[in-house]
Amino acid sequence: MKKLETAAIRIQNERSQFKEHSVPLFLTSSFVFDDAEDMRASFAEEKETNIYSRFTNPNTSEFVEKMCALEGAEAGYAFATGMAAVFSTFAALLNSGDHIVSCRSVFGSTHTLFTKFLPKWNITTSYFKIDELDTIESIITSKTKILYAETPTNPAVAILDLEKLGAIAKKHNLLLVVDNCFATPYLQNPIKFGADLVIHSATKLIDGQGRVLGGVTVGKKELIREIYLFARNTGPALSPFNAWILSKSLETLSVRVKKHCKNALKIAQFLEKNEMVTDVKYPFLPSYPHYEIAKKQMKMGGNVIAFQIKGGLHAGRTFLDSLKMCSLSANLGDSRTIVTHPASTTHSKLTKEDRLEVGITDGLVRISIGLEHVKDIKNDLKNAFAAL
Ligand SMILES: *Cc1c(COP(=O)(O)O)cnc(C)c1O
Repeated sequence: MKKLETAAIRIQNERSQFKEHSVPLFLTSSFVFDDAEDMRASFAEEKETNIYSRFTNPNTSEFVEKMCALEGAEAGYAFATGMAAVFSTFAALLNSGDHIVSCRSVFGSTHTLFTKFLPKWNITTSYFKIDELDTIESIITSKTKILYAETPTNPAVAILDLEKLGAIAKKHNLLLVVDNCFATPYLQNPIKFGADLVIHSATKLIDGQGRVLGGVTVGKKELIREIYLFARNTGPALSPFNAWILSKSLETLSVRVKKHCKNALKIAQFLEKNEMVTDVKYPFLPSYPHYEIAKKQMKMGGNVIAFQIKGGLHAGRTFLDSLKMCSLSANLGDSRTIVTHPASTTHSKLTKEDRLEVGITDGLVRISIGLEHVKDIKNDLKNAFAAL
């Protein structure tokens, strides 16, 4: 088994007759067969071959193979977006009447999927709160199939204990599905703690440069087979072009994420000392409530910091308006530092009570630390604090 850094670079498709060094882009909808027998055998899955790019394509297969190596997974399938990966995973594995147990602190669209769309097919979800893992067993029923979690969470940067979740899933014979988007396989491998499936929005740190959307689910072979069959017939496939970009992105994942984390730790320490700021949440700050758990399951602290600005909604908005370099944008995990104010933007449609339940107070600011020089990030933040 190669080291992560090497696998992310050296796993690649066989060279063509041109002996290219860097893998080319296979922009083709379909593939040809030698003869009728070759075509029959391909469709019968008697041989592993590409038929049509909704099923497989050399660029998507290369990306998936790398993601499997990085997560320690047996198999995977790549999707057009992270949400296509989340939805297809549930749609492929659950039946009418099945039940999900999930942490309440999940990505906004995942929450909408649980509360608005999956109930259409009589698939229901019960939530546990981030600090109440000991209540999970009391909400598991005979219909529960999946235990679902995200760690660190978006946008409040809370941490769930993967080892505990793995033990609960095993005891109750549930599938543990983890959205590992914030950590990337470089920082954390949920499969080591008992996860059956790991989902990524590749749009974030995996692309890392804010260019393309993508998603992937990796894990146990027999589960991926079901997900593949669902996706092959419903069409959420990743485009070959985006797969080519994402596979190249993985070559630099380790150096990028390491640098993101170094910058983020320095900014978190800077914020902690700032008198306009309270409640700095960054997993690798010793003051972080779940610092020990973070150290146990993550290599470094990630690139996202959440904090409170004194003065609530108004101060939060003034702070954003006063930034000169940092971008105001709905993305994260970009080479450019991005600042958001969830209460007035991504989570403004929730009621205040619902926001508070996932840790989004009016003064909460989320920063996705980029790869700029840390002094320039610090100066931009400093100037914006001075405007308050
Ligand atoms: C962005 C995000 C998603 C959704 O990914 P898309 O590629 O935008 O569809 C899912 N989970 C988490 C934690 C995310 O941050």
